[in-house]
Amino acid sequence: MSISAKLDALPRTPLAHAPTPIERLNNLSAVLGGGPLYVKRDDCTGLAMGGNKARQLEYYFGEALEKKVDTVLITGAVQSNFVRMAAAAAAKLGLDCHIQLEERVGDAGADYRQSGNVLLDRILGATIHTYPEGEDEAGADANLKTIADELDSAGKRPYIIPLAPGHPPLGALGYVRAAAEILSQVEDLDDGIDDIFVASGSGSTHAGLLFGFRSLDWPIRVTGVCVRRNRDLQLERIANRCQEIARLLDMDNPVTSDDIRVTDETYSPGYGKLNDQALEAIDLCARREGLLLDPVYTGKAMAACLSHVRGTGKNQSTLFVHTGGTPGLFGYAKQLPLSEQA
Ligand SMILES: *Cc1c(COP(=O)(O)O)cnc(C)c1O
Repeated sequence: MSISAKLDALPRTPLAHAPTPIERLNNLSAVLGGGPLYVKRDDCTGLAMGGNKARQLEYYFGEALEKKVDTVLITGAVQSNFVRMAAAAAAKLGLDCHIQLEERVGDAGADYRQSGNVLLDRILGATIHTYPEGEDEAGADANLKTIADELDSAGKRPYIIPLAPGHPPLGALGYVRAAAEILSQVEDLDDGIDDIFVASGSGSTHAGLLFGFRSLDWPIRVTGVCVRRNRDLQLERIANRCQEIARLLDMDNPVTSDDIRVTDETYSPGYGKLNDQALEAIDLCARREGLLLDPVYTGKAMAACLSHVRGTGKNQSTLFVHTGGTPGLFGYAKQLPLSEQA
């Protein structure tokens, strides 16, 4: 059975505008002095300001609808894009949504707590719960389960979107599917592509793409840029995710350990905390290309991508997968590089 037939056999509900375009960043390529840089615009997937979670949620909500639930629950960081897009998908599909926001970033100020994604969560009508710990995945999951049990006792039919490792990686399937979309677009580019860079957090996007490319026999280099944990932990996580995808699709895992490339050169000082490299990437993309990055994921991922492109030859092309997150800019307004007032 082909990979696309395997994917089609699983429940899925369309949420993303796809295919998203691939654009050539001419000004930025010229400034960097290396080979051409392209961007895959998955920040433009349409659902409530877009991002990579639209493709991932297609499979979670596919399962939720099949189970005929009436309420979805999800947990994430205060400025989580996943939570915001889950709230949007629930609204669109006529389901209630409960979200739990975890304190992962420490005292990040009033904008962080109230603006950006949090503002959108509230506009979208989600019920918000908070969890005081950011690095306690098991505790946050247990608390979400308690909320689900209470809803169940009150006669609701809850469905938890399970993001922690150990659950079938339904979200990654959105990017196994997207791999075929990217391959067919790259075949139409004059330059072709030698390297792909993408933010690597839960690993669903990174592992899903890698799994998809290899199952299509495309040996493209894919580098995941750490945004949530260091390189060693992320390497292990991506390897596990690929195994889990293989199990879920009931097929052999085509990804070898040599295929898994991860860098954490732009990760410090930690999740959701800006650094100079990310600020430079945000600044360059905005001022040279009118392209907005986000402070938590794509700023850091693009920073690593820029450092790679600076070292490439003229005929070596790179594709950056823009995973979205731009509402987060409003949560970090006071830390961003702004132009002077005239
Ligand atoms: C969630 C997210 C990521 C990380 O994607 P994973 O699939 O969790 O690795 C990257 N960029 C943005 C903007 C995100 O919201």
